[in-house]
Amino acid sequence: MYESDADAKVLSVDRRELLKAPAGAAELLVAPSFGQQNATRTAESPTIAGSGSAVRTITLEEHFATPEVLDAIVKAWPGDPLVDYLQAKRAKLLDLGSGRIAEMDASQIDLQVLSLTGIGMDRLAPADAIALSHDSNDNLAAAIHAHPDRLAGFAALALQDPEKAALEFERCVRQLKFKGALINGATNGIFLDNPRSTPVLEAAQALDVPIYLHPGLPPTAVREAYYGELPRELGFILSLPGWGWHVETGMHSMRLILSGVFDRFPRLKIVLGHMGEAVPFFLARSEGFLGPRAKSLNRHISDYFYENFYFTTSGYFSLPPFLCALQIFGADRILFSVDHPFNTMAQGRAFLNGLPISSDDMRKITHGNAERVFKL
Ligand code: MN
Repeated sequence: MYESDADAKVLSVDRRELLKAPAGAAELLVAPSFGQQNATRTAESPTIAGSGSAVRTITLEEHFATPEVLDAIVKAWPGDPLVDYLQAKRAKLLDLGSGRIAEMDASQIDLQVLSLTGIGMDRLAPADAIALSHDSNDNLAAAIHAHPDRLAGFAALALQDPEKAALEFERCVRQLKFKGALINGATNGIFLDNPRSTPVLEAAQALDVPIYLHPGLPPTAVREAYYGELPRELGFILSLPGWGWHVETGMHSMRLILSGVFDRFPRLKIVLGHMGEAVPFFLARSEGFLGPRAKSLNRHISDYFYENFYFTTSGYFSLPPFLCALQIFGADRILFSVDHPFNTMAQGRAFLNGLPISSDDMRKITHGNAERVFKL
């Protein structure tokens, strides 16, 4: 854990070297705590992540919905594969009580930070999206009130009206005690670096809570050009979890940096799910080509990721991408998550238990980082 900004700076310098490391620099390509794991794993894993659940486990990209929100999205996208995609998960999305808690118990998840599945809501009229977001935030607050030790929340915001969204953000954090906001990509094709989105970024920094930048449906022109000619369901899934929205979200994060958002809001915190939305894999090349040309920025491109971003494991239960994220960003910036109900908590637990990492890193990734970043 960073004890001070100075420590963070030292680490970021080392990690920048890592981006430049030639293939032979094997020692640099091993994360600092990674080398000790094999010696300790056998002895420690039963108490760290075994059936005794000795270590607190928090997850951060866990979704719910209200009937009103699902019905509005279904109505807004008649005949679209999005409807089937959401309806298949309807029962689990609507469960904010006993079924969800039982599944958490079975997978030894102590606390879920919940967020509305609002993908597709950007097609709604602003007044409808504002009202539905407000009501779903109230519903979430009631569920948290019923299970205060097990559930926490992120605000749902209608970015169709950024000024009102900022006010709702403030209400959710100050009155409902939510831990941040979750935003589903671009709204009507407008990314968060657009000046229109500024009130929401201002609110996040002023409230000192993160924005979880979740993927959203691609802009219509992108959807048609990239995915339109493929078989219906395959094109749809390719545009979302099969590929497209992950790289778009990684690109969105890069837009925030290149447009100078973090020079205007240096304390803004952004969380990326899905093992960093391809950023760990791309960063060396992006830095190499963009860095020399981004002369107006206050910091190196990678430094923004090291200082303003956090990354969750949501939906990725595969070791190589995890190791890539761990090597590029280190254990202080990686947080465990599942992406319920689009993945199962059991999948997440099995992945976590199998991670070949030190007990210190396990504590950071399961709960330590989440407690620090989200004040849990
Ligand atoms: Mn998700």
